[in-house]
Amino acid sequence: AKRSRLDRFIVQHSELTRRQLKPLLATGKVLVDYQPVNDANLLVDYFSHISVAGNVLQNNQPVYFMLNKPCGTVSATKDDKNKTVFDCLRQEDSVIAGLHIVGRLDFHTTGLVLITNDGRWSERLTLPNKKIEKHYRVNLQNPIDESYISGFAEGMYFEFENITTQPARLNIIDTHTAEVFLTEGKYHQIKRMFGRFRNPVIGLHRAAIGHIQLDPTLQPGQYRALTADEISGIK
Ligand code: URA
Repeated sequence: AKRSRLDRFIVQHSELTRRQLKPLLATGKVLVDYQPVNDANLLVDYFSHISVAGNVLQNNQPVYFMLNKPCGTVSATKDDKNKTVFDCLRQEDSVIAGLHIVGRLDFHTTGLVLITNDGRWSERLTLPNKKIEKHYRVNLQNPIDESYISGFAEGMYFEFENITTQPARLNIIDTHTAEVFLTEGKYHQIKRMFGRFRNPVIGLHRAAIGHIQLDPTLQPGQYRALTADEISGIK
């Protein structure tokens, strides 16, 4: 999360000048997390509660949601033509404004999307070296066979980005259905990996991210707050 100096933050978020702020700091009128602060250089962040002479300048609570993303929604804050995942949320505009998506899904992909305003938490979920597994269920146009398993495990070279994909696990559920576990999220990665077998993906659904499973009671477009265990499981 971005941090800034207390005096700078207050000047940006109020009518006060630096000169007017000084005596307020000196007389204990500036509270950070409900405690008087004299130090103008104190570093504050998005979740610091800040008030000056009784006026609250910032009061952000961390929030964490899981959404069952419906097919045909965009993983972006705004879109001219289509609904976005944020349009599914019934939250105040002031809450929505601070939110971001933790791992985007394609337009037609359904399932688990995590949404939060806590950048440190989402960073821990997405750092490549954490290798947190994303669990997908995939429906294919053509039959699949055992050769896919080693193809996914060995990794595939993507010329466009000049990368080789991390080892991925694939389980065959039936002739046209597989589970795939990825520890990364390259552009259209699953579709491109099945594309190597000339097998179009006709349905793609994310069931879990690490230990966080999509709640089976959530219909497409529905969401709920994460539980304390779901939030704290991300170390
Ligand atoms: N892989 C894809 O191709 N699309 C997604 O939405 C997620 C993974």
